[in-house]
Amino acid sequence: MINMYNSGLSIVRYLAKSNIIVQGRYASQALPQLSSEKYDVKRKNFGTVQAADINYFKSILSEQRVVTDESDVLPFNIDWIKNCRGQSKVVLKPKTTEEVSKILAYCNEKRLAVCPQGGNTGLVGGSVPVFDEIVLSFMLMNKIISLDEISGALVCEAGCILENVDNYVRNHNLIMPLDLGAKGTCHVGGNVSTNAGGLRLLRYGNLHGSLLGIEAVKADGTVIDCLRSLKKDNTGYHLKHLFVGSEGTLGIVTKLAIHCPVLPKAVTVGFFGLENFDNVLKLFKSAKSSLGEILSAYEMMDNESIRGTLRNMKLTSPIPEYPFYVLMETHGSDADHDTEKVNRFLSKEMDTGLILNGTVATEPGKIQAIWKIRESIPAACMMDGYVFCYDVSLPLANYYQLVPMLRERLGSNASVIGFGHIGDGNIHINVTISDFDKEVLGVLEPFIFEEVSKLQGSVSAEHGIGFRKPQYIHYSKDRSALGLMRDLKTLMDPNGILNPYKVLPDDV
Ligand SMILES: Cc1cc2nc3c(=O)[nH]c(=O)nc-3n(C[C@H](O)[C@H](O)[C@H](O)COP(=O)(O)OP(=O)(O)OC[C@H]3O[C@@H](n4cnc5c(N)ncnc54)[C@H](O)[C@@H]3O)c2cc1C
Repeated sequence: MINMYNSGLSIVRYLAKSNIIVQGRYASQALPQLSSEKYDVKRKNFGTVQAADINYFKSILSEQRVVTDESDVLPFNIDWIKNCRGQSKVVLKPKTTEEVSKILAYCNEKRLAVCPQGGNTGLVGGSVPVFDEIVLSFMLMNKIISLDEISGALVCEAGCILENVDNYVRNHNLIMPLDLGAKGTCHVGGNVSTNAGGLRLLRYGNLHGSLLGIEAVKADGTVIDCLRSLKKDNTGYHLKHLFVGSEGTLGIVTKLAIHCPVLPKAVTVGFFGLENFDNVLKLFKSAKSSLGEILSAYEMMDNESIRGTLRNMKLTSPIPEYPFYVLMETHGSDADHDTEKVNRFLSKEMDTGLILNGTVATEPGKIQAIWKIRESIPAACMMDGYVFCYDVSLPLANYYQLVPMLRERLGSNASVIGFGHIGDGNIHINVTISDFDKEVLGVLEPFIFEEVSKLQGSVSAEHGIGFRKPQYIHYSKDRSALGLMRDLKTLMDPNGILNPYKVLPDDV
């Protein structure tokens, strides 16, 4: 049965809204254990911030933008998923590239370590300090600089919140090329630094493709100006890519130019119930061939993901319970044309039995309600206890294989759910237990990464390596690649002050 919510095709403004983020962050009031103790890390030989350093920072930023009060600094020390807690004593809030440059030149000179922080929604502990690194927050670098409505080139500062930028370009008939559940909080600079993927990568590609130019600051304070808005620029090495996905370890992103696609005139979202995972894949193949260029998202959720999310977030599903669910979205330029295509696809797949039940929405409020179920999954998990969060790429044939394997390995003490971006071969596996337990960690890791490696997958599809995964990076990168990464790090940050303890393991 397909239930068609239809009140004219119109553009959706889905507000994931920070309430999702806030509910997750404050689900439990207990402070996470210090990362250094929990994961047994030794402090490296960096300088310690002194009163004279604070005075210097105040002289370039002003008093209010140097935060030292313990309770004000605390949220900058804890990551969104509450896995990690650092011990920083100071947060700096620059407003300009020049200020960032001065801060880094000084820190480099004094060997003071720095942890760059955007919206602090990262899920691998990269955005928070491990020891007393200085937090460099970009929350005040939030200006939109220019928009070329014809080419779609937007230039803005790194601390702009993704959702705010998206709202801005929507008023000019454009959209941001990426969208994720954390959009109400994450920064575009954080997105670039993590090479964030998100919900519509299937349609609009990754940030290596959308990013036109970048301005970044090296560890010694040198400003690298590659802030062009050109689609084509083959003048030597493509330096901007060094900063995409390097998680603040090679330089600080201060400004960026990004290509914004045209705002779709017609949006359709379907939410379907399916019998088994095999059918999820068969339906994906059929959706690609039937919907072609208008397919913009194809997300998979297992029953356990949806059941927990509906319960914890007090949401209602538009359809009854099924073993698997698919959320499918189209973005097109002609409502009649898209509706005809979608209807033909639906009636075919209802007949074949791939879709057992479903709902289709074209009205913004209904579309928003469907996306909200999918986007609330991470926050809903956190309301049940401590979450181990995995984000891996796997060949589609093996995409779901790890979920039943882990359920068997962990027994009834843990909840294991699988959901993700099927269109990109990227599954998120969240394992929830009541409290952090080192033994459970030992059962999960390195087992998960070994299995991913056997299947030729990637141990991090989109969240990055951060603090939590450097020791597992070798499962996806060989020694020669790691050696070149180390050479680049040494060249760009010889004193290692930028986001230490993250991304690169010590032994390469
Ligand atoms: C509910 C939820 C849903 C999510 N969904 C997705 C998803 O679909 N796809 C996805 O890819 N991720 C997703 N994430 C993870 C996260 O939102 C992304 O990694 C995001 O890009 C991080 O941006 P941020 O501004 O919060 O960066 P932060 O978390 O602050 O930082 C992330 C990393 O980037 C570095 N960094 C931040 N800003 C800068 C800068 N200006 N210069 C240099 N380095 C910097 C930090 O040091 C850190 O290493 C989700 C997270 C949540 C909580």
